[in-house]
Amino acid sequence: MVYCQGCPWRCAYCHNPHLLPAEAAGGIAWSEVLELLQRRRGLLDAVVFSGGEPTAQPGLAAAMRAAKALGYRIGLHSAGIYSRRFAEVLPLVDWVGFDAKAPFDASYERITGVRASGEAALASARALLASGVDCEFRTTWHAGFLSTAELERLARTLSELGVQRYVLQEFRDSGCLAFRPTQDAVEADLVALARHFPQFSLRPA
Ligand code: SF4
Repeated sequence: MVYCQGCPWRCAYCHNPHLLPAEAAGGIAWSEVLELLQRRRGLLDAVVFSGGEPTAQPGLAAAMRAAKALGYRIGLHSAGIYSRRFAEVLPLVDWVGFDAKAPFDASYERITGVRASGEAALASARALLASGVDCEFRTTWHAGFLSTAELERLARTLSELGVQRYVLQEFRDSGCLAFRPTQDAVEADLVALARHFPQFSLRPA
């Protein structure tokens, strides 16, 4: 896993707040990562770029190419924030874990704190599904920030877009600075959600 520093969104439930600023002390140079990957050739199968938000990195495609040239398969965890760069790296990746946060309208802004964030995410989701790259869509959920009606609406939209594999991730409060639940997570109707997808699972907190 390569954790990329920096994310322009401010999701209430982010549990990696230390990765949000674009700059931070104690980072590891990409050249050092490459050296490690060279030493581990044949021992590791894949490199997964995570974050933060990997598509915030101008050097993402070059880094993926370098890892691929060493024989690694490439994974990407992304919320599809920078849709142009997201589309640019799709031909380089073998698998994507895509964070779908809410119905792609004003609900998105409520979670991310950023205007038009739903439009960027939707453009990236469409590009991913059109690419045919193996992928999983996932949503972090707590009733305190996404109602069951919104969750159902999101599931319907994802299904209509062609999502095959969907994971509902229960909110974890470890590391989360901005969101303290004032209510218990209400059980979502998992059976109703599962009906939208050929593959559905719940990832417990
Ligand atoms: S997009 Fe991901 S990394 Fe960025 S604030 Fe939201 S949860 Fe955190």
